[in-house]
Amino acid sequence: METHGRRRRRRRYADPRLKIGVLAAVLLVLAFAVIGTVLTKLGPAAKDVEVPDYVRKDYLTVNEWSRPGTELEKIRGVVIHYVGNPDTTAQANRNYFESLSSGAEGVYASSHFVVGLEGETIQCIPLTEIAYASNGRNGDTVSIEVCHPDETGEFSPVTYDRVVELTAWLCREFRLDPETEVIRHYDVTGKICPKYYVENPEAWDAFRTDVAAEMEAQKTAEAAD
Ligand SMILES: [Zn+2]
Repeated sequence: METHGRRRRRRRYADPRLKIGVLAAVLLVLAFAVIGTVLTKLGPAAKDVEVPDYVRKDYLTVNEWSRPGTELEKIRGVVIHYVGNPDTTAQANRNYFESLSSGAEGVYASSHFVVGLEGETIQCIPLTEIAYASNGRNGDTVSIEVCHPDETGEFSPVTYDRVVELTAWLCREFRLDPETEVIRHYDVTGKICPKYYVENPEAWDAFRTDVAAEMEAQKTAEAAD
């Protein structure tokens, strides 16, 4: 009973304005927590972030067939492809996408990035626009087309390392989980693309593990700067 009395007394003397202030502060903190959680889930909006030094921008001209200029609103994944045309360079593949703009071939195709046989990397489309690469996921993913020396579709070591580096950078920039949000074209449509990493699922698992490790390495390197 005495405890009860003390509590009542304290309540009577407490400044009501203070109570409202505390309540408002608690609600504000809760609101920010909820908004923060939602934003983290959705990922940041697509934006024209500064790309790493090894990326050379060679944007396609805006056209119906390979760069429609449609806004990419959210980035919820990275889709990996192989070009399917052995021993071709990143520039050749970028130029192929550009050539589609005439409409003569009647083919819709492009990619945000093309990584070449020497690891050279060309950006064909800004990160604020969609590419025509991943069918049903064009609207919320970034695409990487990868060159390969032969019919197996396996990436050369230097190309592989570059794709890991670029994918890790994208995952960090757009807060993506390499376990679930780095996918193959195959995971979207069942197409055998990227061929080697569809036919060898353990190589695909290793790729995503390498991306996760590279994300940590990039964080450490940045912290040391
Ligand atoms: Zn593909």
